[in-house]
Parts: sequence; structure tokens; C-alpha cells
Amino acid sequence: MVHVGIGYDVHQLVAGRKLVLGGVEIPHTQGLEGHSDADVLLHAVCDALLGALGEGDIGHFFPNTDPRWRDAPSRIFLEAVAQKVTERQSRIVNVDATVIAQAPKIYPHIAAMKKCIAGALNLAETRIGIKATTNEQLGFIGREEGIAAMAVAGIDRP
Ligand code: MG
Repeated sequence: MVHVGIGYDVHQLVAGRKLVLGGVEIPHTQGLEGHSDADVLLHAVCDALLGALGEGDIGHFFPNTDPRWRDAPSRIFLEAVAQKVTERQSRIVNVDATVIAQAPKIYPHIAAMKKCIAGALNLAETRIGIKATTNEQLGFIGREEGIAAMAVAGIDRP
């Protein structure tokens, strides 16, 4: 039986931080603020997978009060979630996500993001969808104050 999960995340854009999205460092004037590397895309994907497992969310497993996760690459969270899927004798069917960012342009980095996510999840890149959209200059995303991501995942569970 395939179970689906949903994930959403947002982080604030600030000066003096690296911008990391989908495990890929992207040249930009600002980066995302957070305890870890604040990779909104990987956080949303983690939550989608955890949701499909009926588990707690990423903040439950990797709290932002834990010094171990300070500036941690979020890829390690994704790998830990993949391990939970395996422990449950389950198999990821697919992951699909959308990044919502006014700037920078995301499209040139999507292939590298897919490669990173595929590697962390041990999943074929053809099972991973990543899209990007701007927010048409509207709201906090449109004003380049933050970047959001949403994701869904399907997991085949016994
Ligand atoms: Mg987050």
C-alpha cells in the first residue's frame, strides 16, 4: 500500500549566510537563516517522507536546540529519514517538491539537487521531481525576505 506524506518549510533570507537548497550551494547575495544549513527543500522532503511513515516531524527528530545540528548539512537528516524507511521494510516510490523563491534562479541547479536527493535516498533520479516558481513579487517571498518549499512523497509500506 502506498502512503503519501506532505511537507512544507520556510526560512528567512539574511546576509552573511550560504544559500543551500536541495543540498547544493547556490551563489547568492543572501542565505537562509537557521540552526542547521536551513535547506528548506531538504527539510520539506524530510517532512513529506516522515509524514508518509506516520512519524513525527523533522523538528522532533532533529531539534534546533541540539548543538549537534548547528550548521549541519541537512543531507544528514535526509539520510537518517531514508534509514527509517528501510527499518520499516518500506520503499520510497517518489518524491515531488516545489521551491518558491523570488531570487536567485533555481532552474540551473535542479539537476544537481536531484542528484543529491537521489544519492541521499538511494532512489533513481527519475523518481524525484523538483520544480521552482517565483511568488510574482507578492508577499514576503516576493520581497526576497525568505524562501519556501513544499514536498510530497509516496512510500510503499507493508
Ligand atoms: Mg526548516
